[in-house]
Amino acid sequence: MNGILLGESDSILGMEKGGEGIFIPVSVSNGVCRGDVISLEQMKKLKACVDNILKETGRALLNGEIAACPVNQSGKTVCGYCDYGMVCGFESGMETRRIIDLKHGEALEALDGKGADGSENAMDS
Ligand code: SF4
Repeated sequence: MNGILLGESDSILGMEKGGEGIFIPVSVSNGVCRGDVISLEQMKKLKACVDNILKETGRALLNGEIAACPVNQSGKTVCGYCDYGMVCGFESGMETRRIIDLKHGEALEALDGKGADGSENAMDS
């Protein structure tokens, strides 16, 4: 299973007995967590970032801003799986959104306000 986990050994050992990283992407040895872990402080920042996105999305919906702007991965949108294609107004060639594929360290830098290129406030856009 992929993902990030809180880098605290008690938390890891509570999810996987022995903490060998067989079922989760993190292992624990001598109390040290290895893998894609984040600190409690980073987890709080991530939660705040997600909360802001949800608030902005809710505000936009209440204001009637509901653009048909699907995710585009490798030239394909999710529209092929969607039941609303007949009513949403999206047509091929319109604006789509790209998911930025960051490595774990790059994502942490972005969370801390530094983009992979060293720019400030990478998560603010
Ligand atoms: S068909 Fe329309 S509503 Fe459905 S995913 Fe595509 S853009 Fe969004």
